[in-house]
Amino acid sequence: MTRKIHIVGNWKMNKKMDDIKTFFEEFSKLKDDFNCNSWIAPQHIHIPIVREFADSFGIAVGAQNCSHKTSGAFTGDISAESLKDLGTQFTLVGHSERRAFFGETHAILNEKTHKALEYDLSVIFCIGETLEQREASKTEDVVKEQLKEGLKNFPNEKLSKLIVAYEPVWAIGTGKTATPEQAEDVHKVIRDYLTDELKMKGDEIVLLYGGSVKPGNIKELLSMPNIDGALVGGASLQASDFAALCKAS
Ligand code: PEP
Repeated sequence: MTRKIHIVGNWKMNKKMDDIKTFFEEFSKLKDDFNCNSWIAPQHIHIPIVREFADSFGIAVGAQNCSHKTSGAFTGDISAESLKDLGTQFTLVGHSERRAFFGETHAILNEKTHKALEYDLSVIFCIGETLEQREASKTEDVVKEQLKEGLKNFPNEKLSKLIVAYEPVWAIGTGKTATPEQAEDVHKVIRDYLTDELKMKGDEIVLLYGGSVKPGNIKELLSMPNIDGALVGGASLQASDFAALCKAS
């Protein structure tokens, strides 16, 4: 497969309107001819305003989460249908912060995946082990179970809508990045598992690495054969860092 690198910014619960304007003002001065797919996931409430800026740069705008329900009496939840209606192109599913702080189970994440697909959103399905699990040599078992349960009954004809992000929990927001070799080892396990066990066309699925990615370490991560891009939290908040990540790709 020819690799088109994806750089996805996860802004988490950050930025107000003024910050968004400033981000894009700065970004417009730094923007070059990037060769990668640049995507940003702001807070839901900011999707329309971010789209107003991002569309002109060819940046796709996505959500950090979506409901596993279709519509109705689910106060505070955000439906895939409404996201699609706002021109949202993708959603994260199963970020470790959702799993840890909001108790999202394999079953719910599987429902979210299917709901997002139903409304034609691309899914960035996030998986990864905790430090405790890594130290107990359980990394492979953990990521395989997350894939098996979360991607249950994923329709083969929608594979172009699937991206998998490997994000070791111990590397998220901690400044500790997995070494390129550590990340590559798990990416290879993931690709083989998708192909051999889940019977998907593993070679066609974009695999992102996430966990303290920054301009200083992106190049070596992307030099690995099974790393097709990055899901970036902290370093995506600054226009200069986000532009540098896109340029490095
Ligand atoms: C993330 O939130 O997905 C992430 C990888 O965060 P950070 O880049 O800050 O580690």
